[in-house]
Amino acid sequence: MEQMEWKPIVEKCSGCGNVIEERCRIWTTPAAKWRMGICPSATHMKVEVKSTETKVRVGQQKQKKK
Ligand code: SF4
Repeated sequence: MEQMEWKPIVEKCSGCGNVIEERCRIWTTPAAKWRMGICPSATHMKVEVKSTETKVRVGQQKQKKK
């Protein structure tokens, strides 16, 4: 079995319930999770739902109907 490389937790992980012995028990690279914003699995932070997720798509209806 291949062993995954578990990177150490980052500063923002402190206080998270998923930290076990200085490692995250969910993600191998915690830093990558925080690079995109708040870690989705963080127990000590609330994941903010960004409004961009629900933004209404403005359709460009350039297709001509016959
Ligand atoms: S779940 Fe997220 S916040 Fe918690 S230790 Fe892992 S990477 Fe860090």
